Amino acid sequence: MIIRQLVRRTPLPALECGTQIALLKTMTGVARPNSDMAEFREVFSKAKHIAIITGAGVSAESGLPTFRAASGHWRKWKTQDLATAQAFSRNPSRVWEFYHYWRELALKATPSEAHRAIAECEARLSKQGRSVVVITQNVDELHRRAGSKHVLEVHGSLFRTRCLSCGDVDASHHSPICPALEGKGDPDPNCRDAAIPVKNLPRCDEGGCDGLLRPHVIWFGETLDSHILTKVEKELDACDLCLLVGTASVVFPAAMFAPQVASRGVPVAEFNIRPRANMSRFTYHFQGPCATTLPVALERHESEVI
Ligand SMILES: [Zn+2]
Repeated sequence: MIIRQLVRRTPLPALECGTQIALLKTMTGVARPNSDMAEFREVFSKAKHIAIITGAGVSAESGLPTFRAASGHWRKWKTQDLATAQAFSRNPSRVWEFYHYWRELALKATPSEAHRAIAECEARLSKQGRSVVVITQNVDELHRRAGSKHVLEVHGSLFRTRCLSCGDVDASHHSPICPALEGKGDPDPNCRDAAIPVKNLPRCDEGGCDGLLRPHVIWFGETLDSHILTKVEKELDACDLCLLVGTASVVFPAAMFAPQVASRGVPVAEFNIRPRANMSRFTYHFQGPCATTLPVALERHESEVI
């Protein structure tokens, strides 16, 4: 399985050679661009297992910044430079300030029309014996808050922590996650680090452990959770329609998911706000805000029996 060879989270520009890029091109081939929504809707109406792969573009429509590879900044740092184990080891206070800022934004955000359309589609199709799975690179839990039940979060969640001492993984939606982060995390480039002592950062309360907690997200250079990847592989192998929504597909291994499906001859429909340089990679491409295009694509088809 190809994605097994690329389980380390890597931004595309950091790849040293064109191996993976060449692989992508080989797998996806070349097809005529097709933006025929009526034709897509016919395919959608017959699909039994739909995999919806989502990225930062879906959350952007809820007002969340796209902290993705090479583009986002917090204060004067590139966010991809903060999302590493090395950055956390050097300066856990700074990294926790950044994640606190992101958590607070996510807590205040509301699911977009795209999130809601996906959740509504899953609920409706499940009554017809059809399945929808969301495979998301987003860590903000907005799919779950919109009502999606079958969600695979390949990069973890802002609202889970992992203890560096005992390894315990726990959920926390507290605002702030600890008293010392109250009012911290201002993204202004002129804002100085809060330099919070490590003992006042989020700590493990499991059986008196008191170890330092880190966000339970997959940082750049880290390996994806093998249990999640196994589930993703199963879904990608089983789906008979795949939607790729709001992602520029620049972070591996998630960038390989849709090409892997396309290589089986399964239709893939891409929904993205920007025209793509290589927009003919997949069967369908719909340009525009996914909060506009997706509800139209996923609304009840006239052939559906409720
Ligand atoms: Zn612990």
